[in-house]
Amino acid sequence: MESAATPTHCPYCALQCGMNLTPLPQGGVEVTERADFPVNRGALCGKGRTAAQVLSPEVRLTVPLVREGGRLVEAGWPEALDRIAGRLGAVRERYGPDALGVFGGGGLTNEKAYALGKFARVVLGTSQIDYNGRFCMSSAAAAGTKAFGLDRGLPFPLEDVPRTGCVILVGSNLAETMPPSLRFFTELRENGGTLIVVDPRRTRTAEQADLHLAPRPGTDLALALGLLHLVVAEGRTDEEYIRERTTGWEEARAAAMAHWPEYVERITGVSVPELREAVRMFCEPEAAMVLTARGPEQQSKGTDTVGAWINLCLATGRAGRPLSGYGCLTGQGNGQGGREHGQKADQLPGYRKLDDPEARRHVAGVWGVDPDSLPGPGRSAYELLDALGTDVRALLLMGSNPVVSAPRAAHVEERLRSLDFLAVADVVLSETARLADVVLPVTQWAEETGTTTSLEGRVLLRRRAVAPPPGVRSDLYVLHELADRLGVEKGFPTDPEEVFGELRRASAGGPADYSGLTYGRLARENGVFWPCPEEPEGSPGAGGHPGTPRLFLDRFATDDGRARFVAVAHRESAEEPDAEYPLLLTTGRVVAQYQSGAQTRRVAELNAAAPGPFVELHPRLAARLGAADGDPVAVVSRRGRAVAPARITGAIRADTVFMPFHWPGEGRANTLTNPALDPTSRMPEFKSCAVRVEVLGPA
Ligand code: SF4
Repeated sequence: MESAATPTHCPYCALQCGMNLTPLPQGGVEVTERADFPVNRGALCGKGRTAAQVLSPEVRLTVPLVREGGRLVEAGWPEALDRIAGRLGAVRERYGPDALGVFGGGGLTNEKAYALGKFARVVLGTSQIDYNGRFCMSSAAAAGTKAFGLDRGLPFPLEDVPRTGCVILVGSNLAETMPPSLRFFTELRENGGTLIVVDPRRTRTAEQADLHLAPRPGTDLALALGLLHLVVAEGRTDEEYIRERTTGWEEARAAAMAHWPEYVERITGVSVPELREAVRMFCEPEAAMVLTARGPEQQSKGTDTVGAWINLCLATGRAGRPLSGYGCLTGQGNGQGGREHGQKADQLPGYRKLDDPEARRHVAGVWGVDPDSLPGPGRSAYELLDALGTDVRALLLMGSNPVVSAPRAAHVEERLRSLDFLAVADVVLSETARLADVVLPVTQWAEETGTTTSLEGRVLLRRRAVAPPPGVRSDLYVLHELADRLGVEKGFPTDPEEVFGELRRASAGGPADYSGLTYGRLARENGVFWPCPEEPEGSPGAGGHPGTPRLFLDRFATDDGRARFVAVAHRESAEEPDAEYPLLLTTGRVVAQYQSGAQTRRVAELNAAAPGPFVELHPRLAARLGAADGDPVAVVSRRGRAVAPARITGAIRADTVFMPFHWPGEGRANTLTNPALDPTSRMPEFKSCAVRVEVLGPA
């Protein structure tokens, strides 16, 4: 039995804080600070500090479950696996391979994400695979790829933040989502730099800012265009940089010039003096950054919105220069790696495009299959969930809880119920697992070794620190056994290091090249930034490519090495307020819960801190509605109704209400959200929809 402290990383968000795990003689695991990891330097939030509590058999699954007579009952592994393989095989036989769906998660390690994508395409032969990361950062990924030819969340390490001159943080509440990261922004201000926060709410993060801009939800595209307009009008563009390092400026400039500051003020509610002040703060220092998160990204125009913020960086000569640039703060633990290794509907390992013939040839070669046998791109996450029970008849789901986290969640729940067959592999009996025909109890972060890729693009080794409870198996074991039962005996090893070896080969030469990485190196070097290609013997880099902490300093990853402006214009959200639904709803997170809450809702300390949902109302709105603090209120959208206590606060705009989305049941915020999709990224519009609020009377 393992007993010494094992250095590893947190299971939750994309900061991937370093921590030590020590099994205790009386049972349980102690989490302690680990000061040698430069991102958190020993700091952990409450979620990280209590993460080991979810390892307890008391709160997690330890036995496979199968549905009998409408109830989930305990079963042995062979029976559960036989049942899944039998039903998947039968559905494929009857309806064809695309009737099989696979849904993954941004919390899966790189090895699992890789194996799941390969399983879908090689064993099942289906194109219908996507993952919950589509709901997180796909608009930033699409915009980054368009502009720079490559998407890596942050193209520079977080340690650059304190040394820049100004950061515009757009739609990110770091103080609640990843508290240890706030230190970089505090140091920025201590060093004389400034912080601008763009958020409809005066969040704990916005309270730290030198300037808080609070646009109406869904209007930050117009806000970015208004800022660019002023940059041009005030002669603050970097003409030499634009000439040397970009293309498409004239069209983007013309689009921005159509967005007069007064017009932008009317759309956004941000005043012209505030816009001017933001431009001054951003343009005066030598270096500056724009960082976006879910606010601008989770919109039906998310790709254009992020593109507009990137335009601002390009016009001022910020991207691809030291201590400057654009970055996306990815949310889920392996949200970055999860999108690089093939569980996304349109991608192959190494961040290769599934419809690129050369990419198909390379990956098929590693997999030992005919490139023509690989299916093409499939549906995006929401479209896949929406097709359940119709075109897609059976689903294998790993590490995701869409009953709580998907938009229009009651509809998604109904679609899941309509399936011929649902199999779920998870660590807990989540709300989605409760609907399954078979539930497999799988190992957790601390019980198996694997790699993740943090929001900085730093590939990290998560080490096994404790043995899993008897009866629990790895997702890699699940895929190995299912592949075997479905007639593919080789190619699905259960050893994560062996899977990583294959992933390295599959990624070699691709945009996200991991071929120069090994577990030994990741352990020794405390993580390595990709791309990190394997250097040939005899070359100057032989013996170890250093990795790439900073991208684009010499050239962008486009064919001609130049960044691309995009010409974008303001447009409304898919749903705007009207007489029936006169308010806007925006959703987000609280510090004590993580994503759908499947794990954190099982930790007493976190539940005590954040026991349930609430509805933030501005005092003026509350007075108009006749709501007092704590009164139960119903928030109603075209998709349904959610009930939670009112929380009256001046931190929210009077035309907007806010709900956190971590809970199921009658307070489920995603019952309300709009699945209108961004045309490029297929990201749903979580951040803005029209609602009304009904006061239900005192609690
Ligand atoms: Fe874990 Fe994120 Fe909290 Fe760090 S900030 S301890 S990675 S949840």
